[in-house]
Amino acid sequence: MEEALELLTKYGEDAKVMAGGQSLIPLLKLRLASFPYVIDISGIAGLNRIEEKGDYLEIGALATVNEIEENYLIRERYRALHEAAGLIADPLVRNRGTIGGNISHGDPSNDLPAVMIALKAKLELSGRNGKRIIDADSFITDSFTTVLSEGEILTKILIPLSTRESGGCYIKQKKNAGDFSVAAVAVNFVLDSSERVKSAGIGLTSVGPRPIRAANAESFLEGKKVNDSVAREAATIIVSESEPSSDFYGTVVYKKKVLLSIAEEAINLSYERAMVR
Ligand SMILES: Cc1cc2nc3c(=O)[nH]c(=O)nc-3n(C[C@H](O)[C@H](O)[C@H](O)COP(=O)(O)OP(=O)(O)OC[C@H]3O[C@@H](n4cnc5c(N)ncnc54)[C@H](O)[C@@H]3O)c2cc1C
Repeated sequence: MEEALELLTKYGEDAKVMAGGQSLIPLLKLRLASFPYVIDISGIAGLNRIEEKGDYLEIGALATVNEIEENYLIRERYRALHEAAGLIADPLVRNRGTIGGNISHGDPSNDLPAVMIALKAKLELSGRNGKRIIDADSFITDSFTTVLSEGEILTKILIPLSTRESGGCYIKQKKNAGDFSVAAVAVNFVLDSSERVKSAGIGLTSVGPRPIRAANAESFLEGKKVNDSVAREAATIIVSESEPSSDFYGTVVYKKKVLLSIAEEAINLSYERAMVR
């Protein structure tokens, strides 16, 4: 890690970090970007560790999407993350692509940033002058733009352990197997003892220039028991918080219809799962 940070400082904006290379290499190959220096961090020992420690599930930035999908703890206790990982691309990409790269790329169509928002995760960024911790939802500020400063590497993802007592899911609508989504939604609920939503987390993929926290829908749901009409109303609020644009994947109207439908389903399913916890 020290060597990587030293090289990043030395070469500044001439250098780019590479983890799994699954987003960076296509960019270089298509000549959409070019850097005199590529710093391969994939060999940094221990940076792929996944463990519950203190108040958090800690995931090293180099954990691959496949390692996340197959991790027992994540499968049992962090369903939205487990499901999202299994819906990314294909086995080849999942075997090499890392959670750190998926988040750091800043692509609003990448699946894991919205899950980080729903799980209220924090991100550890390391530079030569030390570490800082930031909320996941302030990390991506615009399409392919993050708050990472020159010389910084995303090193850890921290998911609060309170998430273990919750229910969640990730629903992704795509045209073909392996595609990026038309729209996708991550939901996570923690309930109180009377089965009301104590804490709601909702993150949206592919329906804006960056991953979106559906903050109004979260506030609407908190303090309520979920039934069909509550789920429907919350889904309508979620759609009002989305900012899709027309593209290859569909028109604005189509994307909003898709989002309405999957958001309602995700709210009902997450609540059902939280009830059986
Ligand atoms: C055919 C195909 C289909 C895909 N489909 C999907 C999909 O459906 N859903 C989805 O979410 N993703 C999809 N992806 C993207 C894939 O998940 C990428 O692997 C992932 O987005 C990037 O991870 P990586 O480790 O390969 O990052 P890299 O390609 O190595 O890096 C990507 C960017 O992040 C930066 N970076 C990487 N790691 C760090 C770090 N630790 N700290 C700071 N900066 C870092 C790099 O400098 C670069 O700018 C697809 C990719 C391909 C090729």
